[in-house]
Amino acid sequence: MNTNATLSRWRNLGIIAHIDAGKTTLTERLLLKTGAIHRAGEVHDGAATTDYSPIERARGITIGAAAVQIHHAPAELPSHRLTLIDTPGHVDFAIEVERSLRVLDGAVAVFSAVDGVQPQSESVWRQARRHRIPLIAFVNKMDRMGANFDAVIAQIKSQLDGNPWPVGIPLGSEQSFVGWVDLIARAVLRWDEQGDASITAWDAAQQLHYEPMREQLVLAVAEHDEALASLYLSAHSVTPEQLRGAIRRATLAGFGVPVLAGSAFKNKGIECLLDAIVHYLPSPLDRPMVEATVEGQSLSLSPDPSAELAALVFKLAHQNGNTLAYLRVYSGRLSVGDNVWCSVSGRTRRVSRLVVMQADRMVEIKQAVAGEIVAVLGWKDACSGETVSQLDRRLSMAGITAQPAVLSWRLNAEKASDLLRMSQGLASLAQEDPSFRVDSDPQTGETVVWGMGELHLDVMLERLRTEWGITVLTGSPRVAYLETPCASVQAVEGKLAKQNGGVGQFARVVLDLHARNDGEIHFVDQSKGGAVPKAFVAATEKGVRAALAEGPLGFPVVGVDVVLVDGETHAKDSSDLAFQKAGADAIAAALSLSKTQLLEPIMQLLIDTPASHVGDVVGDLQRRLGRIVSIDDQGTRAMISAHAPLSKLESYTTALRSLTQGRAMANTTFARYETQRN
Ligand code: GDP
Repeated sequence: MNTNATLSRWRNLGIIAHIDAGKTTLTERLLLKTGAIHRAGEVHDGAATTDYSPIERARGITIGAAAVQIHHAPAELPSHRLTLIDTPGHVDFAIEVERSLRVLDGAVAVFSAVDGVQPQSESVWRQARRHRIPLIAFVNKMDRMGANFDAVIAQIKSQLDGNPWPVGIPLGSEQSFVGWVDLIARAVLRWDEQGDASITAWDAAQQLHYEPMREQLVLAVAEHDEALASLYLSAHSVTPEQLRGAIRRATLAGFGVPVLAGSAFKNKGIECLLDAIVHYLPSPLDRPMVEATVEGQSLSLSPDPSAELAALVFKLAHQNGNTLAYLRVYSGRLSVGDNVWCSVSGRTRRVSRLVVMQADRMVEIKQAVAGEIVAVLGWKDACSGETVSQLDRRLSMAGITAQPAVLSWRLNAEKASDLLRMSQGLASLAQEDPSFRVDSDPQTGETVVWGMGELHLDVMLERLRTEWGITVLTGSPRVAYLETPCASVQAVEGKLAKQNGGVGQFARVVLDLHARNDGEIHFVDQSKGGAVPKAFVAATEKGVRAALAEGPLGFPVVGVDVVLVDGETHAKDSSDLAFQKAGADAIAAALSLSKTQLLEPIMQLLIDTPASHVGDVVGDLQRRLGRIVSIDDQGTRAMISAHAPLSKLESYTTALRSLTQGRAMANTTFARYETQRN
């Protein structure tokens, strides 16, 4: 087997879109067209194939990121294997988007021909660009009233700073989208009612009409591809293969984005998209090397099946009582029977079963090589983001930056008998999603869940209800405030001296505390002449950190430099515990001297609203202590960018809906912590 030839026929891709743009329907049609399933489940009936769990069907949004394999052979090319990685559409699940973007090589960005570029498509597009992921755009819903292909192209330029290359022209008028002029192959596709295409080469009149448009495309691409430029200058005509080759090179290099159009719902344009995925999206061989570290040394990994093993767990899913750890192999190979090292949990695991998903069928395989996306069955306590490597080479790949959990809800099971199952269910959800955390209130013992926002928590609790059958009661939301010292204080003492007979306890530490504005906590030992032995320095630090977990106002303290300047020990009575206590006491004393101020999470809002409602939306934001960053007037609609404290955004989505008769959309992400304003 020629490995590179095999790898070059693989495409790992995601479909990214704003909610409702048609991602689920399109995925379904791709499976149908390639024969992976035989009947397309309509999203309307809640039976789509990549959406596993009942809640996803109920909401019509895809929360999990399942990876599904299909096969496709464009005309005159061998069969290619496409792995569709289902990225979540809602930005409240940014961490999942981020994680799935890391493991895919290319993506199809779906836009609605009616709604154009919407806030979530914008944010995911920018994330994809940041990860240097080559993209194809698919303008969907061309069958709908108000569809406007050219307007979407213009928005890709103006709103996304993209360089769109339409590789064809839609035929027909609104509501009667009938075909596609293929500018590359010089052909016209016409679809019948079932979405089957008949293809004819351009006749003389079409040639006359469309050749200049083809030439425009050639020129646009030639600007970024020297081979095409010199062909254009020397030859009479650029062949379809030559043009495709140039578009592929320029797309992989990130210069532009081929654009196609279709209607997922009416099954039109699906085969062109499949061809384009093969033609223009990268194989694992086309991607940059991946960085990892081993014992402090960094190294670059190439997709070489004979190199050392490196894989990344990017998603855990629970399905029919099985735990599926989805992972991407970046280098080397993973075989059934292997024992491997898992970086985050810091332990050895055995690979007992390996599977790939084809629609919702699991197919067992014996081995996965570099470039493949597979799932390991039965790794119950694996976590997302961990690196899998050979036992003797403990690799770790750069982690995935998580959005902090900034909002919490108190929970109680509606039925007391559900308490145990509730905690099992919550633990399992937390394992799948690192941005969802479960704690208990130390005072009341109540269960507290943390997440990235209202919708995130809402979805998690609904999953608890539908997947675990547990209904919970929630208290009002609480914002994750932090505290930071207002000033620096020096030479604060913490002393423990209980020496009245029997086993005594003695420790004395002297600390300086300085405020720092980057939100970090640093501890340094500057005590002289062994005043505090090493072991007790560590104990002091432990006590200090424990005390910083709750400041005078009741929240975690951040933004401090703690300097141990002096201390005292007793030959018999000093212990770790005594130094922990002295450290903690010194911090408590220092913080009550320095005083602390509250830091609150500030959210970044991106609101897409009808222009007629800008005044209402802005007025409401100002009442919520929001600051308007910019208002981008786009004719009938406007894009408002603002910052506002999370504490003032309770039920914001609902409020915005009633303010604008449901015509505005908001996208909320964490921006930073800031001193609380009044
Ligand atoms: P997702 O949220 O991006 O996964 O979008 P869905 O696939 O769930 O589609 C949202 C809605 O738009 C559903 O009611 C679909 O039936 C509908 N839809 C999807 N694609 C098309 C299309 O090409 N044309 C029309 N008219 N409706 C579509």
